[in-house]
Amino acid sequence: MAKSTDICELAGRLMRRPTAPYHEQAVRSEVEQICAENRLRFERDAFGNILVSLQTAPAQKPFVLAAHLDHPGFEIIRSLAPGRWLARFLGGVPDIYFRKGVPLRLMPGSIPARLGRKVGNQRNFEIHTNRHLEQRPRFAVWELEDFALRRGRIYARVCDDLGGVAAILAVLIRLKRERARVHVIGVISRAEEVGFHGALTVAASRKLPKHSLVVSLETSRELPPAKMGRGVIIRVGDRTSIFDAAGTRFLTEVAARQALHKSFQFQRALMYGGTCEATAYQEFGFQTAAVCVALGNYHNCGPGNRIAAEYVSIEDLGSMVDLLVAAAKAMPDYRHLTRKLPQRLQTMLAEARRKLSRDHDSLST
Ligand SMILES: [Zn+2]
Repeated sequence: MAKSTDICELAGRLMRRPTAPYHEQAVRSEVEQICAENRLRFERDAFGNILVSLQTAPAQKPFVLAAHLDHPGFEIIRSLAPGRWLARFLGGVPDIYFRKGVPLRLMPGSIPARLGRKVGNQRNFEIHTNRHLEQRPRFAVWELEDFALRRGRIYARVCDDLGGVAAILAVLIRLKRERARVHVIGVISRAEEVGFHGALTVAASRKLPKHSLVVSLETSRELPPAKMGRGVIIRVGDRTSIFDAAGTRFLTEVAARQALHKSFQFQRALMYGGTCEATAYQEFGFQTAAVCVALGNYHNCGPGNRIAAEYVSIEDLGSMVDLLVAAAKAMPDYRHLTRKLPQRLQTMLAEARRKLSRDHDSLST
């Protein structure tokens, strides 16, 4: 089977698999298939998360890359009548987007359906279909294009966070092909949109070494000062937390080095649009940092309060892969790169003492 490190091909394979919180099975199978094709070692943990590892230099500080498989969608609760189902929406989408008649897709089976009326005070809705169902539907997603490439962008129902998952796989495949000496663990988790359930189960387990640097990969709502098309964003914090200063500095030093040599762009910003998995890992005692790419139509919230495909820049996603490949390889330099600043400050302190004490002498005479 042909292998590809092409981020668009990987993204396309994943994004054509509809997903929702707790209903990630199809896209997870695709991830496992891609790992198998590329001879990457992976395991499914007791909660259904996937851990992919490439440990050609196991003595190195572990570099953990985390992204999630799910996306906001409907979970089917029960049948109300022939062709009518009660469903609960899981994930953050404002009420105004839930218009009656919006096209949906019931899964499995890709059955065309429509959004019906809201039921009660919670996020429960009726879903209607006039098609015959071979099997009981489990979940539903917005009926949108699965995946398309236009004007240098990926348009898809789910960029958040299958773009991040595709980037993890691209990083691991490239490092494997280059026979790089690295210690990388990809954590591809479930049910992030309902409160990072999958990431919490991994963070609280003993699966990850405690001295790992955990980096969350996300697509994140485009917010100033970050701009789509200007490269990967080193995310210094999210809506809830700011991340580890040394870990963030490490990524920034690697990015600055990359930017010297080729047409690599990066940005550094606090992306306050949402809370990402780095907050979960950080609260469980891990050193964390985060990267993301700017996302358009976040959670399918398009202009005019209409449901629309999300989009990201292909170049941004490519620069995310480039940065993380370089960072994985730079891990032996971690101490050197993160100590450049404190060493510079020590030199400045010596100079400060010299100059200020001289001034002080001249003032007092
Ligand atoms: Zn999200």
